[in-house]
Amino acid sequence: MGIIGFMSEIDSDKLKKDNKKKDLGPPLKILLADDTAVNLALATKLLKRRGHDITAVENGLLAFEAFKQDTFDVVLMDIHMPVMDGLESTAKIREFEASEASRPATAIIAMTANNEQSDHEIYLKSGMNGIITKPLDIKTVVTQIREIITSFSG
Ligand SMILES: [Mg+2]
Repeated sequence: MGIIGFMSEIDSDKLKKDNKKKDLGPPLKILLADDTAVNLALATKLLKRRGHDITAVENGLLAFEAFKQDTFDVVLMDIHMPVMDGLESTAKIREFEASEASRPATAIIAMTANNEQSDHEIYLKSGMNGIITKPLDIKTVVTQIREIITSFSG
């Protein structure tokens, strides 16, 4: 094992310990969709640093395609995106899940800078399971994700 491999092993051990300390639990497999490159890169970096496995895509259609190819613990979905927005992508994902009996429903969380409660209610009625507001807060985002997943799965 080279020095770099050795270092990254130490890093990931340290990360796991840190996660335990903060009670952040096991790593999650996350599908992340946002059309703003900076947001996507930032969220990816932030979640990867916490040990999560991230698939990052830039619109709702790519999110839907990725969802059909793989399974995820949670989907983090921007609302406003070109090609296919977050609500349409959510509808497609829910339709796909309904057609695949063996597939359990996956929590979909809106990531939005929009703070309007009435809009949040629309998102929740459209098949999303929770809302996280942008800019993402480093200290609370993973806790928020876990709380939403837990309340979604029962
Ligand atoms: Mg957007």
